[in-house]
Amino acid sequence: MVEGLQQLIELQGLDDELYAVEGECASIPERRGELEAQRRASEEKLAEANKALNTAAGEQRRVEGELQEQEALLQKLEGQQFQVKSNVAYTALLHEMERAKRIISDCETRILECMEAIEAATTARSAAESEVAAVHERGAAEEKALDEREQVLKAEAARLRETHDGLCARIESVVLDQYKRIALRRRPAVVRISQEMCPGCRVNIPPQNYIDILKGERIITCGNCHRILVLESKVVTPAAS
Ligand SMILES: [Zn+2]
Repeated sequence: MVEGLQQLIELQGLDDELYAVEGECASIPERRGELEAQRRASEEKLAEANKALNTAAGEQRRVEGELQEQEALLQKLEGQQFQVKSNVAYTALLHEMERAKRIISDCETRILECMEAIEAATTARSAAESEVAAVHERGAAEEKALDEREQVLKAEAARLRETHDGLCARIESVVLDQYKRIALRRRPAVVRISQEMCPGCRVNIPPQNYIDILKGERIITCGNCHRILVLESKVVTPAAS
């Protein structure tokens, strides 16, 4: 086989590994961002539950104040019952007492509603508190795992890059440049063929080109996609280390 082709295939394997390792490494900040978003969302839910609780409690206090006022007013009106001098004034007084009783009844209903709202908000708040704690705990564990994974990936990327650079230094520069130019636009840049067809673009290889590939005297590229064509049967699979 043409000098350098076997190395190009190894280089391509390293490139693929590097691409995968660097891709995973690059996705880690995004994952950290997701964890942060989950924490914020759970905290916002807790803040909302607290707000609902405060609103209901505030409303209950306000209505209780109104209830006390109306009860005091009713008491005062009842005290005046025996002091009124005319029927007109008595009717007006009864009317005022009825109004106070109606407001008192409404206040009592409203207080019951507030108590129900407080109970629901308290339940929601304790669920939100548990959720915040759980999200923080899960997040911390996942952050730790991400940190560890990031260290492993960085070490792996450094190792691959070193091997990659060492290999590049051994490949003839014309061949290496040709590979790099193709790899920039198409991956894989080197394809293995077992029949007269480019597996990269599925276009037939002209008979003369195929004969040249069989001869293995020079690098042959696909006339359509420009990928470097290598005979599958000539590729040496490196022993797994
Ligand atoms: Zn092709």
